[in-house]
Amino acid sequence: MVNRDNFRKIDPYVPGDQPDFADMVKLNTNENPYPPAPAVIEAAERFSAGRLKLYPPTDGGALRRDLAAYHGVAPENVFVGVGSDDVLSVIFQSCFNSGRKLFFPEISYSFYEVWAELYKVPYFKVPLKADFTIDADDYIGKENGGIVIANPNAPTSMAMPAADIERIVAANPENIVVIDEAYVDFGGESVLELTRKYDNLIVVRTFSKSRSMAGLRIGYAIAQSELISAINDVKNSINSYTMNFPSIEVGKASIAEEEYFRTTIARILKTRERLVSELSKLGFVTFPSSANFIFTTHKTVPAKEIFEKLREKHIFVRFFNKPLIDNYLRITVGTDEEVDKLVAALKVIIK
Ligand SMILES: *Cc1c(COP(=O)(O)O)cnc(C)c1O
Repeated sequence: MVNRDNFRKIDPYVPGDQPDFADMVKLNTNENPYPPAPAVIEAAERFSAGRLKLYPPTDGGALRRDLAAYHGVAPENVFVGVGSDDVLSVIFQSCFNSGRKLFFPEISYSFYEVWAELYKVPYFKVPLKADFTIDADDYIGKENGGIVIANPNAPTSMAMPAADIERIVAANPENIVVIDEAYVDFGGESVLELTRKYDNLIVVRTFSKSRSMAGLRIGYAIAQSELISAINDVKNSINSYTMNFPSIEVGKASIAEEEYFRTTIARILKTRERLVSELSKLGFVTFPSSANFIFTTHKTVPAKEIFEKLREKHIFVRFFNKPLIDNYLRITVGTDEEVDKLVAALKVIIK
């Protein structure tokens, strides 16, 4: 029998459930409720599968070039990966090797801790303020081996001002600061422009949320070329051909559809406002969201109970059974129809 000492023991990241019921309302993994842009669907249908006999370009090819043009940087400033999880994972392996502690917020994307454990990066989980906001001063004047912050943060949904991030980046010139902008298109202030000014800043983005393309798996990082080149070296030491031809072709089509992208986001923001106001009438208290999800708690009914009762009705939201946040629900902003179903169910549950 195999000796289990051979196995790596690790507490894995636990993704949100991917339930599959015809009647479900799925508001638990922050997907975009709207389909990808029409041009994206066309590009997917037009894809010529004969090309699959060849290896794709190792650097994302035309997708990398188009992303660079879209953001007004050079292709050498762009690293493309299989979703931002892949990009962040490679960054964790490439950028935090000083032996000093990596800093990230105590309440944030829980994958950060999993990667730190997996890649044996020492780390410190920086407490949030009592109101769940991030205090930039906690990242200034403290010895560290790098910093990772999601802005807007997850699951709190709240954004930090770009000026606070710049203070952190400027105060840590020797350490790499990664800003995970997975939700920035829904109301956060991006620091992408600051990558021109600071050689220690990496901004990470994804097609999964604002571009309705979670299923395709595209993420990218923008930074100065020396950093991108270091990240590329590690990627090429793991798997050179990460970006497949369909991802490159279909991803390119999304970048060209700016208007659809903006319209979809505007709809989500409108629905978000309505969701928050409906929930407030039912006794929920919700943090100010800059994302396509909200973080909310009820004045009297425990979050776990609401989560379970919603699940019985095939309405899925996210509940984290973790210290500090175990009386909150993270709810993705769906379509207006989905939000109506949620609110109707909550009226019964809250009574
Ligand atoms: C969703 C999410 C990601 C990962 O998204 P991908 O689908 O892998 O691009 C990264 N960071 C945060 C904070 C997220 O919420």
